[in-house]
Amino acid sequence: MPNACQRCGACCALYKVTLQCSETSDQPGGTVPLELTVHCGVHSRVMKGTERFRKKRCIALSGNIGDNVTCLLYGQRPVACRDFLAGWEIANGDNPLCDRARAIYGMVPFRSF
Ligand code: SF4
Ligand code: SF4
Repeated sequence: MPNACQRCGACCALYKVTLQCSETSDQPGGTVPLELTVHCGVHSRVMKGTERFRKKRCIALSGNIGDNVTCLLYGQRPVACRDFLAGWEIANGDNPLCDRARAIYGMVPFRSF
């Protein structure tokens, strides 16, 4: 199946993306560029742009939502992003958060919720 995320991007412009401080580039083994994150509590940070109350959009998301998007950090993205399963790639289940994000941006959910 083609990667439907490349024509979506809704979750990257709806949810707060939190990461451990240990995931940023200033830490040994950290991959996420520190400058693309902001503080969120003592032990965590947030992807810039997703800390907003309204109009969240991750700073690493390039392109037009629902059309053609790219994660500019794909190989270095936070654990939360790696763990977020897309509805189209789940064989025996679904991800209501994926479907919800798509629905909010006017895209067909992979399953009804
Ligand atoms: S909302 Fe679902 S389909 Fe869209 S980019 Fe996120 S994981 Fe992929
Ligand atoms: S780092 Fe990439 S996958 Fe994660 S929210 Fe930002 S654009 Fe989306």
